[in-house]
Amino acid sequence: MPGLFAPLSSADRVRFLARLAAVVGERALLTEAAEMAAFLTDWRGRYHGQALAAVAPGTAEEVAEVVKTCLAFGVPMTPQGGNTGLCGGATPDTDGTALLIRLHRLKRIRALEVQNNVIIAEAGATLAAVQTAARAAGRLFPLSLAAEGSCQIGGNLSTNAGGVHVLRYGTMRDLTLGLEAVLPDASLWHGLSPLRKNNTGYDLKQLLIGAEGTLGVITAAALKLFPLPRQRVVAWLGLATPAGALTLLGRTQAAFDARLSAFELLCPLALALLRRHFPGLAPQINTPWQVLCELTDSAPEDEPLTARGERFWAKELEDGGILDAVVARSEREARALWAAREHLSEAQKREGVSLKHDIALPVSRIPEFLARIEPELQTAFPGVRHTAFGHLGDGNLHFNLSHAAPAENARLLAQGERLNRVVYDVVHALSGSISAEHGIGQLKRDLLAHYQPPAARTAMQAIKTALDPRGLMNPGKVL
Ligand SMILES: Cc1cc2nc3c(=O)[nH]c(=O)nc-3n(C[C@H](O)[C@H](O)[C@H](O)COP(=O)(O)OP(=O)(O)OC[C@H]3O[C@@H](n4cnc5c(N)ncnc54)[C@H](O)[C@@H]3O)c2cc1C
Repeated sequence: MPGLFAPLSSADRVRFLARLAAVVGERALLTEAAEMAAFLTDWRGRYHGQALAAVAPGTAEEVAEVVKTCLAFGVPMTPQGGNTGLCGGATPDTDGTALLIRLHRLKRIRALEVQNNVIIAEAGATLAAVQTAARAAGRLFPLSLAAEGSCQIGGNLSTNAGGVHVLRYGTMRDLTLGLEAVLPDASLWHGLSPLRKNNTGYDLKQLLIGAEGTLGVITAAALKLFPLPRQRVVAWLGLATPAGALTLLGRTQAAFDARLSAFELLCPLALALLRRHFPGLAPQINTPWQVLCELTDSAPEDEPLTARGERFWAKELEDGGILDAVVARSEREARALWAAREHLSEAQKREGVSLKHDIALPVSRIPEFLARIEPELQTAFPGVRHTAFGHLGDGNLHFNLSHAAPAENARLLAQGERLNRVVYDVVHALSGSISAEHGIGQLKRDLLAHYQPPAARTAMQAIKTALDPRGLMNPGKVL
């Protein structure tokens, strides 16, 4: 959305940059296009923005001063964490009027309170750093996703990240007790409460979580910790149909309750691509659909979890609930099974580009979605193929379209908008969501406007206008 904001005059530009340099220091301010280039393209290489400058404040107070300076000069701002987001939310638009606010210098773990099961981390701490700090104190911070070495807590909060353990521990929204943030009027809100219960009016933190930087800049968070699991067992299970996987999910939940920490579905094409591009990584199971299932327990038990899991899966094999199974016998084997699951995205990348969808459905309707979408897609683009994989336990599928022939694939991508609508119309008809965990950013902004109920849209717009009347916070994203 270029052209929303007028560029600064050259005199104002000089004054603006001088004021920023006085706040953060010359070394934390980049103004040359070449220095900023790496931060102005999104992870997928889909969006290429421009910026007036990139600034890296070192404290929350500096973030507040930076926002105050932007307000004074009418400069729009785009916050950026690890820049691993998949919807272009951290890429400013192309007119070069925005200031990129990079949070990586705010990376301290301010406190870890074992008794309260709380860690207070600054927004620029990587997810991996927070996991490591928690583990060192004998605790678990359960958010886990493939980009955890680079993505930052502020980005995880702003996209309400999910990942592979939502089934047991919830999304970033569920894992957050308090926030500290600079609001669009440059005030620093100290909301780092470690309280588990706090019914004192509107819950501001929940507004900022998932707002993708459009309602302020998050500077720190108080996050929930959990006991470290003492036992884990991972199995790779073979099934005939997605409906069979759903039935197995229900029976596994009934048998293991909260000990079920992941239940990941893999469709036939996803498995074929994994075998083609990473031979030997996936277990030797020849059923069309497969599931990675993980059980964990933090309490020591009389009977090891592995034995309980094996007994359960043996009975399922006997009853025909599963057709084949590989159970990891060691932590090394468990990691190998997870590696197969985690290489799915890379296997697809090696196969070529695809049209990606991150959708959520009521768990019970996933088989219905898969049955309904196939004929619709074949009518819309004969020969199209899809991978459907991901967090079945959360009703979240990564659903990607491609064609085996490169020329047809290029034609398919060119018709992306039309094919997206085919997918999302079915998702919408089944009461699903066009974005399960990746957010809206600029990628799905117009789709959100199409599918969102009018009352929700009006309320969201009113909140945005009330908090950010000049629309300077990450313009062109979400709304
Ligand atoms: C390989 C890979 C695997 C992934 N797997 C998953 C997955 O399993 N589950 C999942 O949910 N996501 C997944 N993601 C996407 C996910 O959204 C990001 O990895 C992560 O949550 C974003 O963090 P980030 O620090 O990189 O944010 P960025 O990309 O830098 O920013 C994302 C959004 O947040 C805003 N933002 C960033 N920091 C702040 C801040 N401090 N204050 C206010 N706004 C801010 C930005 O403006 C932008 O709108 C994956 C991405 C990759 C590349």
